[in-house]
Amino acid sequence: MDDVIIIGGSFAGLAAALQLGRARRKVTVLDTGLPRNRFAGHSHGLLGHDHKPPLEILAEARRQLARYPAARLVNARADSVSGVIDDFSVLTAEGERLGARRVILSYGVADQMPGVPGFAECWGTSIVPCPYCDGFEVADRHWGLVWSSPQSHQSARLFQHWTDKLTVFADGHDLPAEVRADLASRHIPVVDGRIVEIAHRDGQIATVNLEAGRQVAVDVLFAHPRNKPSASLHESLGLETLETPVGIALKVDERRQTSVPGLYAAGDLATPFLPSVTQATWQGAMAGIFAQQSMLA
Ligand SMILES: Cc1cc2nc3c(=O)[nH]c(=O)nc-3n(C[C@H](O)[C@H](O)[C@H](O)COP(=O)(O)OP(=O)(O)OC[C@H]3O[C@@H](n4cnc5c(N)ncnc54)[C@H](O)[C@@H]3O)c2cc1C
Repeated sequence: MDDVIIIGGSFAGLAAALQLGRARRKVTVLDTGLPRNRFAGHSHGLLGHDHKPPLEILAEARRQLARYPAARLVNARADSVSGVIDDFSVLTAEGERLGARRVILSYGVADQMPGVPGFAECWGTSIVPCPYCDGFEVADRHWGLVWSSPQSHQSARLFQHWTDKLTVFADGHDLPAEVRADLASRHIPVVDGRIVEIAHRDGQIATVNLEAGRQVAVDVLFAHPRNKPSASLHESLGLETLETPVGIALKVDERRQTSVPGLYAAGDLATPFLPSVTQATWQGAMAGIFAQQSMLA
């Protein structure tokens, strides 16, 4: 039996495994190799790893984990978790049943691409979610923002620190008059109508095409599609969740324990606000440490 099984071996899961391996706890990481930012050429903002390809950072983390004999990394999907604290059981897609005293859920979330032709092809290249991740490289260029919720107003104000050429695409949303007035006072045009196509060349956006036939050229488009957890294990476990503007996040306490004792969560799966590689690695490390401390004799 393992001390801990970690489901999802990307930034959060590997950070948890690192702490547990160093604490000489027997830990197995199950991973299917599909980190959320795999579409991006470079990852930004992680201290010491800025502007590196995300898969390169993860490959290095996997290499470093191999130094710890108690840590095992398995390329496999977890299909179910059952049991209670000190006696959890995890079933893999291959039918292997593993036991552990604690489980850390770090299987991330998956962005749901809208059915707009061209959108998925540009995702991570010229359609991106976060200015802290990708804003610097396109500063002073013409940015577009796809309106998705009242929070988009805050995004528009924020983006002015990177560029003074911003266009807001209402995309079928009814923007309140006071919001339109504020955007006008900031010289931010609002383009109404639904987006029906993203015209691009090899993922590099050319124009945003609207239902009335209008085409608006931008250099980069910021969008916040809805997301959902990459697996549904938390549902069968009945874990408590929080609503976020774009989906849900698992509810955790200050020790990163979920609503079920012995089950911990880290990374985007349990981040209601501003998910990032930095948050995921910090949360993963904390989940590993708190899971370890919860097993003291
Ligand atoms: C386009 C884009 C660009 C981004 N750029 C940046 C950036 O520059 N800087 C930054 O800080 N953040 C960036 N982010 C955010 C960053 O990707 C996430 O915050 C980070 O990946 C979260 O790490 P995580 O470990 O929680 O989840 P993930 O990295 O998504 O990893 C989850 C892992 O769990 C695995 N998994 C899923 N289900 C199972 C299962 N049932 N069994 C086993 N394994 C499973 C997956 O294959 C995956 O390996 C970006 C996001 C996007 C979408």
